[in-house]
Amino acid sequence: MKNTIAIVTLALFVIGWIIFLSSARRKKKKIKDKLNEQFPGLYRTILENKVLFYRLLNETDKRLFEKRVQLFLATKKIEPVDTEIDDTVKLMVASSAIIPTFAFPQYNYPSVKTVLIYPNSFDEDFKTENLEGHKQGILGMVGNRFLDGTVLLSKPDLLRAYDGLPHKSNVGVHEFVHLLDKEDGAIDGIPERLTDHSFVGPWLHEIKNEIDQIQKGKSDIDPYALKNNAEFLAVVSEYFFSNPDKFRKRHPELYGFLEVIFNKNPTSETEKTE
Ligand SMILES: [Zn+2]
Repeated sequence: MKNTIAIVTLALFVIGWIIFLSSARRKKKKIKDKLNEQFPGLYRTILENKVLFYRLLNETDKRLFEKRVQLFLATKKIEPVDTEIDDTVKLMVASSAIIPTFAFPQYNYPSVKTVLIYPNSFDEDFKTENLEGHKQGILGMVGNRFLDGTVLLSKPDLLRAYDGLPHKSNVGVHEFVHLLDKEDGAIDGIPERLTDHSFVGPWLHEIKNEIDQIQKGKSDIDPYALKNNAEFLAVVSEYFFSNPDKFRKRHPELYGFLEVIFNKNPTSETEKTE
């Protein structure tokens, strides 16, 4: 009897393992097939019209950006909550993820599984209807506890950042910068994976200087950056990627730090063509 139970248990285990392996293989093949597909011309037009960061890339980097978009879309779920989503919304989510990590080609947000798209800004209970008229809610957030692995974004606020014009704010980029920052375990404004330790002291000093300027009303950086170092990093990153020329002129030192953090100079392509 004992032997029979042992044999059945072993058989079930083996069957389970085979099912697991074959479904993992199928999934891998599906992703590979997706990556081999030609990037749709319509997608290219949408990126060209709406995503300033993409538009400033050279042709080789544009193809790399497109591959990253395909990988993101093939590996993450983008789901609407009481709203509808189209290709533009999906492309803007993927762009928001790729912009801050463009210089890290292997990086595809291992901790993110799902991006939920809300019809508007929302409150702490993820409700949108109580907010109309009197107060602005949350535009986006990185989920924790039961929403671990999930990013939440308000659709109109996500799209607003991608009207093809330079802005200072971009909620999509903001949330994905928090995720990069979180990689070392803490959302604290110090993304350790991207920096070495000798960089941290001067970076914190720079944050302090700029906070001083914001408090004195001498900076055009959104005062939301005053909340803490993590919000500071996310807010200045939005500006850095959305309007690099203006940001560099107004905040050359800060620009230099973000160039190191993201291993990227988003104005370099414009410089070449000037
Ligand atoms: Zn934030």
